[in-house]
Order: sequence, then structure tokens, then C-alpha cells
Amino acid sequence: MLRCYYIGGDEFLEFENIISEKNNPGKNILTNIKSRVNISYRQYLDRFDELESKVSSDFELIESEERRHLQGCYSSLTSISRKRKALIYSEQPDVLKTFCPFCLLDKPRTLDHYIGQDEFPEYSFLAKNLIPCCYDCNQKKNTTWRRNDKRRFIHFYNDDFFGEQFLFADLILVSNTPALRFSLKQSPTLNDTNFQIIQWHFEDLELLEQYGLRCNSLLSTEVKIMTQQIASGLSIQQLSEQLSISENNFANDFGVNYWHSVMYQCMSQNVNELLSIM
Ligand SMILES: [Zn+2]
Repeated sequence: MLRCYYIGGDEFLEFENIISEKNNPGKNILTNIKSRVNISYRQYLDRFDELESKVSSDFELIESEERRHLQGCYSSLTSISRKRKALIYSEQPDVLKTFCPFCLLDKPRTLDHYIGQDEFPEYSFLAKNLIPCCYDCNQKKNTTWRRNDKRRFIHFYNDDFFGEQFLFADLILVSNTPALRFSLKQSPTLNDTNFQIIQWHFEDLELLEQYGLRCNSLLSTEVKIMTQQIASGLSIQQLSEQLSISENNFANDFGVNYWHSVMYQCMSQNVNELLSIM
């Protein structure tokens, strides 16, 4: 897993720019509330941790027109809106142009509103709230960014624990067939709050199960290659080192918690066992 690139810029100025492109009555409605939107933006950008326990939006349900026009800033076809959304995709590191940061399995074809736009319409167009995401993760996450005042998903602009390994795999036998089982482990340097968010993120997106399926569909081919390499003269030690190189290459490009890297890590540590089972 990797941190996403936040496009930054002056978020409030972008909001003012989008208002200037609007027609009435939206233009007047948004102009009248823009100082309140600025206060909400400052809270998100400067004091994000306060939001998980914030009772509700600064815009009450009764302000239905204001809420509708705030959400309309995201869905509008104004050039500012289109440019800003396109920039979020185009500025990501190459890996995250191809893979959804939430799962690293599928293409990020949508932008997820980290904080849902029905609940907090003032963040509908805030770039820091818009994270590239695949259809599957977007649908599973839906509006459940928090429960009981606790965040349940990794925020790929704000969170910064991707250098710590928390995803691991163990070799197991399923009906005499080798398989890898993924699990999460907390390192001493990862605090409880962050580890809990990681656990919920994986649970709600069913990532351990998905990684297991992907990995085990490749494992028998990988073990066949290992067997052929041993037959052609490679030592166990050399084979283990070769698997470690694959692990490190994937980790360098996709982060230490990328399932494919973790798969090679487990294989490199269990060469003898894998060869003896087959
Ligand atoms: Zn995804």
C-alpha cells in the first residue's frame, strides 16, 4: 500500500472559482454560504482528527438547497470541476494510476468521497476528501467511513504508516495442498489507533480473503517454477535469495504491504516446506 499524492492548491479559492462558473440560483446560494464553507474546509485541512466525532454537518438538513448545491459542485460539468477531478487521477504515482490505493487489486475508476457527501455535503468538492478508488472498494466502503466516532478506513492522503509492515502471510496446508494465509500484525512502532483503522479497513473491504484467493491461484505455478529451478541446479539458498529479490522489487514499487511482495516474502522463508509438500 502506498500514500496517494494530494494535489493541494488553495482549496477555498477553487471553491470560489467553481461558484464563479455557476449560474443562478446556485451562484447566489453558494456565495451566501461560502464563509461557512471556508470554516468547514479549515477544520478538514487543519484539524482532521476532530471530524470522526463531529456530530453532523455544519449545514443542517433543513438547508436542503444549500446542501444540494454543495453536492452539485462535485457533479457539475464546469471546467474547474472537470479539471480538478482529472488532476487527482493524473498526478498519482504510476502504480496508483493503475491500482486502487484501497486494495491494490483493481483499477481506480472512481473518486471516493472519504467523508460521504450526503452526511457532510460541504466536503463534496474538497480535493483532500476525494481519493481514487475502484468500483468494488467504493461500493463496499459506501458511507461507512466511521462507526461509533471512529474512522474505519485508511485515509490515503493523511495517514502515513505505509513504511511499516502490517500484512504478513503464513504457509498452511488445505487438503494437503499448500496455501498462503494472510494476516495483520501490529509492529511495536504502529500505535493502537492506527492498527485498529488498518484492521477495520481490511475487514470491511475483505482484503485478507481477496489476497488469499489471488495468491493461491498463482502459488502452484510458482512452486512448479521453483521445482524446475532446483532440478536445473539452483540451491535452496539461491532460490530463497531469488524470491527475496522478487519480494523487495514488489515492495519498492507497491509498498511493503503489497500482497504480491508479502507472498514472495513467505515463499522465500519456506522454500524447503513448499518443495517438500509438492
Ligand atoms: Zn479497490
